[in-house]
Amino acid sequence: MTEHVPPETRLTDGPDAGLSPPGRRPPAEEADVIVVGAGPSGATTAYYLAQSGLDVLLLEKARFPREKVCGDGLTPRAVKALVGMGVSVSEEDGWLHNKGLRVIGAGKRMELPWPELASYPGYGLVRTRHDLDETLARRAQKAGARLLEGVTVIGPVLDERTGRITGVTARPSDNGDERTYAARVVVAADGNSSRLSVAMGLRKRDDRPLGVAVRTYYKTPRHDDDYLESWLDLWDGDRLLPGYGWIFGMGDGTSNVGLGMLNTSAAFGNTDYHALLRQWLKGMPAEWGFTEENRTAPIRGAALPMGFNRTPHYYQGLLLVGDAGGMVNPFNGEGIAYAMESGELLARTIVQALARARRAETERVLAGYPHALSQAYGGYYALGRVFVKAIGRPGLMRFATRHSMSRPALMGFALKLLANLTDTRGDAADRLVNGLSKLAPNPE
Ligand SMILES: Cc1cc2nc3c(=O)[nH]c(=O)nc-3n(C[C@H](O)[C@H](O)[C@H](O)COP(=O)(O)OP(=O)(O)OC[C@H]3O[C@@H](n4cnc5c(N)ncnc54)[C@H](O)[C@@H]3O)c2cc1C
Repeated sequence: MTEHVPPETRLTDGPDAGLSPPGRRPPAEEADVIVVGAGPSGATTAYYLAQSGLDVLLLEKARFPREKVCGDGLTPRAVKALVGMGVSVSEEDGWLHNKGLRVIGAGKRMELPWPELASYPGYGLVRTRHDLDETLARRAQKAGARLLEGVTVIGPVLDERTGRITGVTARPSDNGDERTYAARVVVAADGNSSRLSVAMGLRKRDDRPLGVAVRTYYKTPRHDDDYLESWLDLWDGDRLLPGYGWIFGMGDGTSNVGLGMLNTSAAFGNTDYHALLRQWLKGMPAEWGFTEENRTAPIRGAALPMGFNRTPHYYQGLLLVGDAGGMVNPFNGEGIAYAMESGELLARTIVQALARARRAETERVLAGYPHALSQAYGGYYALGRVFVKAIGRPGLMRFATRHSMSRPALMGFALKLLANLTDTRGDAADRLVNGLSKLAPNPE
C-alpha cells in the first residue's frame, strides 16, 4: 500500500514539513489501533482496547503529568467510569469526595445531594487534571497499551486510492525526526481542536452548541468544600454579568474558580473573560480570599464542544471520541464522563470490528459506532440544544432561576436532568427525563 500525505493534510507547517523524500522514510511502526491523544477519552479507549488483547499505540504530544484547563469537577457519572477502569477513588488515594451540587442564584442558595440511584454512585469527586489524566494514561499503559509521550501527530497517512486513513505521521514534540505509524483504524482523541479530524475534512458544526470557559486557582479557606458550587447568575454590584460560574474546593488549600458562557449568549465572542472573572470575584466575601495575592495559577481558558458538534463520528477509518467528537454535555459543561464513556463504547466497537474475517464486515461494525453514540446520547443532547437556546435569553433564564430556586423538588428534578443522572426504571423524575430524551428528535 503506498503512503501518501498531501501537504494540505499536514497539521503543522514547520520549515521542513513535507520534505521527507518518499522511500527514505523508515518503515512504519505498526499496531492494530492508533489512538491520538491520551486525555480521558484516548486513555480510556486505549485501556479497553488493550484489555481485549489488541495492540494499541497511544500517541500523546505532552509528557505526564501535565496540566489541562478544566474545572476539575467529577459527577457520579465520572465516578462510575473511573471505578469501571479499576481506579481507586478513595480519599486516602487523594480524591476529594463531594455530596452534591450547591446552586446559587436569584439571591438564594440550595444544596442538592446527588440522587440515590442504582446506576450511579451517590457521590462526586474533585481531582486536578494534572493527577487525573496521568492516572488514566498509566491505567491504559498497565493494561498493555504502548503509550508514547512527547509525540505530536502531524498528519494522517492516507491510502492514495481510497482516501482512507491508514496511519499517522508524527514527530517528537521537542522536534526530532518525523516517523510514521500504521494501523487498521485510527482514533482521534485529540481534544476540542482535533486537528487530525480537521485534516480529514471533519470540521466543527456551526449549528451545535459551543461553550468557552476560563478558570484559575486561589488559596482559600473554602478549599475542602463537600459540595460542588455552581453560580447561576454573576453580579458586579447591581449589574448582571453574562455567564455562569463555579467554585470547586480542591482539598489542597485551593479552590478551582471559573466561569463560562455559551455561544447562544449575545456576549459570546465579544467578552474579555479574564476581566469578567475579576469583576465577578470582586463581589465575593473578603474572607474567601479570591484576590490577586492568593491566585496560585494563571487564568486560562478553552472551548467546550457540546452536543455532538463534530460529525460524523466515523469517516474513512477515523473514529472520533470525547471532545474531538464534541461530546460535552450541553446542560452542564461536563466532558470527562462523556469522554470516558464514549471511549469505552468505541473500544468495544473496534474490538468487535477487528475480529470480523472480512473487510466489509469490519466496515459494517465500525459504521455502527455513530449510531451507538446516537442511541446513548442523541436524544439527551437534542434536548440540551433546546436548553442552550433557551438560556441564551437572559430574561427567560432570570425568570426560570427566580421561580425554581424556591422549589426544592423542582431543583431535584433539574439536577437529574442537568447532570444526566437517572435510572432506567427509576422514579417519576427519572421517567420524565428518560421519556423527554426519547421523544427528542435525534439526528446523528
Ligand atoms: C475551563 C473548562 C472547564 C471544564 N470543567 C470541566 C469539569 O469540571 N468537569 C468535566 O467533566 N469537564 C470539564 N470540562 C470539559 C473537559 O475538560 C473535556 O471535556 C475533557 O478534557 C475531554 O477529554 P478528551 O480526552 O476528549 O480531550 P482532552 O482532555 O483535551 O485531551 C486531548 C489530548 O490530546 C493530546 N493531543 C492533542 N493534539 C495532539 C496531537 N496532534 N498529537 C498528540 N497528542 C495530541 C492533548 O495533549 C491532550 O492530552 C471543562 C473544560 C474547560 C475548557
